[in-house]
Amino acid sequence: MQQLTRQFIDNRWVESAGKRRLPVTDPYRQETIAELTAGDAADVDAAVAAARRALPAWQSLSGERRGAYLAAFADALEARRDALIHLSSRNNGKALAEAGIDLDDAIACYRYYAGQAAELEARQGRIVEHGLDGIRAQTYEDPVGVAGLITPWNFPLVTSAWKIAPALAAGCTVVLKPSEVTPLPEQAVAEIAEAIDLPAGVLNLVHGDGEGIGAPLTAHPGVDKLSFTGSNMVGEKVMHAAAKGVRNVSLELGGKSPILVLDDAEIEQAADWVMAGIYFNSGQVCSATSRLIVHAALADGLYDALAQRMDAIRLGDPLADDTDMGPMTSARQREAVERYLAVAREEGLVAVRDGRHRQLPERGEFVAPTLYRDVPVESRLWQEEIFGPVLCGRSVTSDQEAIELANASPFGLAATVVASDLERARRVGRHLRAGSIWYNSEQVVMPEASWGGFGISGIGRELGPWGLAEYLQVKHLIGPEGGQSA
Ligand code: NAD
Repeated sequence: MQQLTRQFIDNRWVESAGKRRLPVTDPYRQETIAELTAGDAADVDAAVAAARRALPAWQSLSGERRGAYLAAFADALEARRDALIHLSSRNNGKALAEAGIDLDDAIACYRYYAGQAAELEARQGRIVEHGLDGIRAQTYEDPVGVAGLITPWNFPLVTSAWKIAPALAAGCTVVLKPSEVTPLPEQAVAEIAEAIDLPAGVLNLVHGDGEGIGAPLTAHPGVDKLSFTGSNMVGEKVMHAAAKGVRNVSLELGGKSPILVLDDAEIEQAADWVMAGIYFNSGQVCSATSRLIVHAALADGLYDALAQRMDAIRLGDPLADDTDMGPMTSARQREAVERYLAVAREEGLVAVRDGRHRQLPERGEFVAPTLYRDVPVESRLWQEEIFGPVLCGRSVTSDQEAIELANASPFGLAATVVASDLERARRVGRHLRAGSIWYNSEQVVMPEASWGGFGISGIGRELGPWGLAEYLQVKHLIGPEGGQSA
């Protein structure tokens, strides 16, 4: 069993100042696979001090040099491919194929920001066109400073890559706090930082829970920027903490995203996209399209097609090649989802499929793929993020009604439109209030396009040039023309 008793600070593995031990589990075998020493404020102090010391040299390094380190991260992830897939499968309960997709996403992200670091360098000192005679104005983009990065447990390699890569490309140094539920994949990222000789203090990792590490990190005056991915409840606390000292904050929070099936959609195709949008990663996806809005004319046929597909999902050991869906990542998350299933029973929701329709594997934190139809909008299951394999459906009779129902949510992370007429799908998509809108596709994420939410789904954007901008501050140098550029 691995003992995670040390923190990665200043490129050294140092004993945590904390005393509390937390078990890290395999949610299929329901056994402890590692033990983590939950750090405390003293660990945060040491990590922030290391990041501050490293900042001047790191931000002075050329963009090409910083980019070369990010490319080395990508190469090292690739080189450890099988081990990392196995590790995230065990710690998260992800089916192997899903763990492989995560790894590919992370690699693509590090590679993309390797290029962005070089491009940033190339545009420093750009001349601004303006209407004043004899005045030269130039634009520079400086790193925000030390960034505190906090990640959740559902996609550890991906959510950490989306923060580490742009932060380092921008010239920030970082203190990363992984989720205490899934610390193993991000522990491997710190091991890679050591292996590629990243300069000391540029990336520090502190293990622990929200109370021991998260809260002290967000409150630390030496942290200039906070980037948080997780629940709305904790996100609000992070934003509150960032107010002290007027510190920069980005939040990637929850979702309750809709999938709209218009009346010209092809049912079998639509069923495939609906499935991909909700049951991937056992439904533990912030952008899961968990509200199905289907034209009444297609509803019965679509529910039949979905029921067939749900029955064919093979639940089981995530490490087995023939498993489609693994368990929930923790007993806690299984219990949270089961509380919603109990509410559904109390509310008398109509189940197309739920736990009563199938035998679950003998062990593991499983929840059966579940689908309710004709769910009232007042239902908590229609309104709240469940974060499990639970889909709620409702029927509508026009595109306009579908758009209004889709937008009637305080969340706004993602949405999907399914239609045969692509023009119509795009038109409807333009009216949706969300950061990522897919049409006739599902959950396609690329490092070049932005990620982030409208409404209570967050503040700011990750990925693309926008993700880099979150770690930069713009300044202008303005004065008389003449002489050389700075
Ligand atoms: P969580 O909010 O419970 O925890 C997230 C992280 O915050 C963990 O590392 C946790 O230890 C830490 N934390 C807890 N209390 C803290 C505090 N007081 N101060 C600072 N840090 C603290 O979320 P979770 O259960 O790990 O993840 C699930 C949530 O994450 C869902 O709501 C999901 O929608 C969201 N999420 C969003 C995105 C996105 O891109 N928008 C991506 C993945 C997950």
